[in-house]
Amino acid sequence: MRTTISAIKADIGGIGGHTRPSDELVEVVKNYVARTSREEHILIDYYVGYTGDDIHIVMTHTFGAENEKIHKLAWDAFKEGTQLAKEQGLYGAGQDLLKDAFSGNVKGMGPGVAEIEMEERPSEVFCILAADKTEPGAFNFPLWRAFVDARSSTGLIINEKLASGVTFKMMDVMTGMIANLKLWEDKPELEASLMYPGRYVVHSVLSMDGEQIVAASTDRLHNIAGTYVGKDDPIAIIRTQKDFPATEEACSAFNNPHYVSGNTRGSHHLPLMPVKLNSAASVNYAIPIVSCLIFSMHNGKITGPHDGFGTADWDLQRLWASERAAIMRNQGFIHPATLVPEELEYNKGYEARMNKLNKKFTHVDKKKLI
Ligand SMILES: [Mg+2]
Repeated sequence: MRTTISAIKADIGGIGGHTRPSDELVEVVKNYVARTSREEHILIDYYVGYTGDDIHIVMTHTFGAENEKIHKLAWDAFKEGTQLAKEQGLYGAGQDLLKDAFSGNVKGMGPGVAEIEMEERPSEVFCILAADKTEPGAFNFPLWRAFVDARSSTGLIINEKLASGVTFKMMDVMTGMIANLKLWEDKPELEASLMYPGRYVVHSVLSMDGEQIVAASTDRLHNIAGTYVGKDDPIAIIRTQKDFPATEEACSAFNNPHYVSGNTRGSHHLPLMPVKLNSAASVNYAIPIVSCLIFSMHNGKITGPHDGFGTADWDLQRLWASERAAIMRNQGFIHPATLVPEELEYNKGYEARMNKLNKKFTHVDKKKLI
């Protein structure tokens, strides 16, 4: 039996800003998925939770990736939630639902999607990494650590399959084109693309046998809408154990909070903090966060999630992330605390400032300057 995992997420409203959905909002989305699953028999199993202001719906089924029924279910659940978000006056109600009518697939309509169709292994294991206040490229560094860096993952040496290398599918988010980069022959080119996460992001990772190990959402909302509408917070699925990275190798790749873009006004660099399941985004300048949902699966039935970043040791990483955030925030608006102009969420405001500034620049007689 081929099973598909579909993880679809959207920000449809937060309490008092970009913090977290209300309990009632999560309940409405959950109830919609439960009701539809019961009535239409299209899902094997599901889970609904949130990371910051993004609600994620994890579904298992047999319809394959990019299936209309599955995507419509998620879209309609978010639509129903949006009604309540509006009634509650939540901030940004329905902000990630960019189109009025569903058209076969949520890709390009606002929600983020990661999906893997697979032949289940006897003990299938997968992790969902759900991030908020950042962008798809936030996963570039941890995925490099998990699949390329033996210092992070001993499995790259002692597991025959991992040692033989994987294929990274890298997406150029400006053109939507994908490059297949094979380890180990394409390592320098792979690293050249991972180097600039705002432009090139990991779309998926495949084993040498062509089995999909990783799927990540790669939409950039400002490219969809033609103008910036919010940070395109990513979600990814990573299958672990056996011939794939150990669950610990995949998850510990997040234990050195690296600087990513996002944060308040989507315009800064701050470290990516691993957080517990269903955590709100911090109002301390909206430090980027990532949560880790670990599931076991058998015949599509899921057990979990186990809270991957919920154990006591991750408090240290949270402390590091807080410290690193404070260090960067000390320099306020001066780059690289802020993003380059084309990556700023409020680019129009910056352009307005620059238009006024540029008018004040005039040619001067150098002799008169002395
Ligand atoms: Mg968000």
